[in-house]
Amino acid sequence: MSDEPMSNKVIRTPDAVDLDALAARFRSLYDAEPDGLWAAPGRVNIIGEHTDYNGGFVLPIALAQHTVAAVRRREDTLVRVASASMDDGAVATVELTDVTEDGDYGWAAYVVGVGWAAARRDLPVTGLDIALDSNVPVGAGLSSSAALSCVTARAWSDLLGWQLDEETVADLGRDAENEIAGAPTGLMDQLASVCGQEAHAMQIDTRAVAITQLPFDLPAAGLSLLVIDSRTEHSHTGGEYAERRQSSHEAALRLGVHELRDVPLESLATTLDKLPPLLRRRARHVVTDSARVEQAARLLLAGDDLRRIGPLLNDSHASMRDDYEITVPSVDTLQEAAVAAGAHGARMTGGGFGGCVIALVDHDDAATVADACVAATARGGFPAPAVFEAVASGGAARIR
Ligand code: ADP
Ligand code: MG
Repeated sequence: MSDEPMSNKVIRTPDAVDLDALAARFRSLYDAEPDGLWAAPGRVNIIGEHTDYNGGFVLPIALAQHTVAAVRRREDTLVRVASASMDDGAVATVELTDVTEDGDYGWAAYVVGVGWAAARRDLPVTGLDIALDSNVPVGAGLSSSAALSCVTARAWSDLLGWQLDEETVADLGRDAENEIAGAPTGLMDQLASVCGQEAHAMQIDTRAVAITQLPFDLPAAGLSLLVIDSRTEHSHTGGEYAERRQSSHEAALRLGVHELRDVPLESLATTLDKLPPLLRRRARHVVTDSARVEQAARLLLAGDDLRRIGPLLNDSHASMRDDYEITVPSVDTLQEAAVAAGAHGARMTGGGFGGCVIALVDHDDAATVADACVAATARGGFPAPAVFEAVASGGAARIR
């Protein structure tokens, strides 16, 4: 095993955010010093997909890639926000007291929505001036949206002394996404962004909203987790996502349980026989993937060889492909190529219909696997993937 950071031509760690440049941009935009800088990470889900709205388990890590906000408190209720990645860095200005669920705020919804959610909780809200930069890939299923809503929530709470627990900070981010940005996500993304810890994965019981931090020190085990972005667009807001939620709901109803979480794994085959074929497949995915989270979590907790989660990743992928039907050809191609090239396991991660594949590899095989993924997509006529190594990192925090 070598300790060198991987940098063949294919594996490219996104450039870090330049904090001094961000602070300078803040000064030039607003002619003032920021009160501080905050950062919140994107996340990648190791296993447990579409289980969150079924009361099941998920297992995300927070990434080293962050959205960073330089922030200054205002005395009025205006929010001014500029993002290096949007609108050529132009400032969006929104009066907080005018924000409603029906308004269209573009990407700024993820920011002003947090203020709206805080006001709804009767927290004392004043406006902010914000300059943003980020190295979380946008729209790749790595939760750039949660990085944005959670860095905003963390900064607002810290600056105004709201003294919120982490779960409530995550809740503000989720409310912003659900109600103001109109993106129907569960709470996983925001909890991961707020509560991430270095070298740990979070087993989240989405019903109890309880987090168990589990050791997940890949480098110490000579392993790497590659994130392979298919560069195929994903979409949470489309009809497919709504259909899966609806199917899950209907399957639970027909089985007489509150949520699919309540279907016992033991008698699964017999239970599922009561459902028509489509709902049977949908329910089987949810129940088995949630169970795979519990299996993976047991391995992590026991300090077992982390390679042993590989087969669970492969099973999860097959389940998403065949039962939940949320993968697409480019993603299946990447998953197969990674495993054929020596990955211990690989699966699509995120809501589906594109997005990223993760592959658990021996550190020394990372370049080989990445190269194989590039070659396979070229053969299949798919976009060349972007590949980086995921490192389990800390959650939202003030950094200056
Ligand atoms: P994902 O969360 O998987 O990256 P989403 O579609 O949920 O994808 O969120 C992407 C959206 O979040 C962007 O279209 C934009 O509106 C907003 N967003 C994310 N990061 C930023 C950023 N750094 N600056 C401005 N808007 C951002
Ligand atoms: Mg998102």
